[in-house]
Amino acid sequence: MITEIKKNFYRITSRMPYRLRHVHAYLLAQDKNLALFDTGLNTDSALAAMEKDLQSVGLDIRNITQIYLTHVHTDHCSMAGLLQKMTGAKVSLSAPAFEEYRHYRKADEAVAQVRSFYSSHGMTPAEIDAIIDEFEDIRAIITEFGADNILEDKQVCKFGSTQFQVISTPGHAGGHICFFFPKEKCLLAGDHILPYIAPSLTPNIFDDNHRPLKTYLESLGKIEKLGCAEIHPGHGNSLSSVNERIAEIRAHHEQRKNHFFSFISNLPKTARDVTQEIFGEDLPDFEKFLALNETFVYLQELKSEGAINEKKQDHVFVYTLNKS
Ligand SMILES: [Zn+2]
Repeated sequence: MITEIKKNFYRITSRMPYRLRHVHAYLLAQDKNLALFDTGLNTDSALAAMEKDLQSVGLDIRNITQIYLTHVHTDHCSMAGLLQKMTGAKVSLSAPAFEEYRHYRKADEAVAQVRSFYSSHGMTPAEIDAIIDEFEDIRAIITEFGADNILEDKQVCKFGSTQFQVISTPGHAGGHICFFFPKEKCLLAGDHILPYIAPSLTPNIFDDNHRPLKTYLESLGKIEKLGCAEIHPGHGNSLSSVNERIAEIRAHHEQRKNHFFSFISNLPKTARDVTQEIFGEDLPDFEKFLALNETFVYLQELKSEGAINEKKQDHVFVYTLNKS
């Protein structure tokens, strides 16, 4: 489905078979040329659907000359390779996002790190195998693309007569960026700010000291200062009460962090133990993985703030209250 949001600016919505049910890409038309912001999910019918959507508003998919990616999650980037091959479009994304994409390609290295990270937080070999299967599915869906431009924080990009700025917003994904259009005061937010859920946060399995929550909240602060009149997210309706939504997301994290803290005691617990106490045992594999990530994010933050202790015991990290 394609919707004209403003003159020459479109939202392309495609269905997803899982979780959030749909994803948006955005399209800017300048003369004949088209710039696509994110691509939607690569399914058997996705390319034909996009071609038809564009035709319905008098545009031609072959005129896509630029593809800008907010991050490299499957539902945002997996068609980039297909489109690049079909149209010769240039693909632009941040350096850490391209690095993450390359980890998907270097399967052995990523798999070894996934095993080491999740087993050190108490997951069983069977649970880890299920996560690795998910990673394999992701690898299969994302079509191979080359990066033509690496985008830097605050970089100003020009497409035809339209200017927009790259805003680096790590948190939901390591290399996440948003695109800010100063004249229109609007932001293409990817998954940085969503209207009805707080975006999930990602541990950096290659960096033990990374604080996903702190990083994410700092990225929210950058958006707060922009004075956006409107946000167009990757999922759900566009938002005009931007700073109210940011305040809600901040409050959500504060409340969740306190909730996770209430499960920590003098009894050493792994992140998996805490996850099990909070979410139960009966989650599907992928949900279990997301739940452990959420637990880890708050424990990591509580540890960095000095509220809890982390200790390695029999090759597994355990957490206790800090009474000092
Ligand atoms: Zn995402």
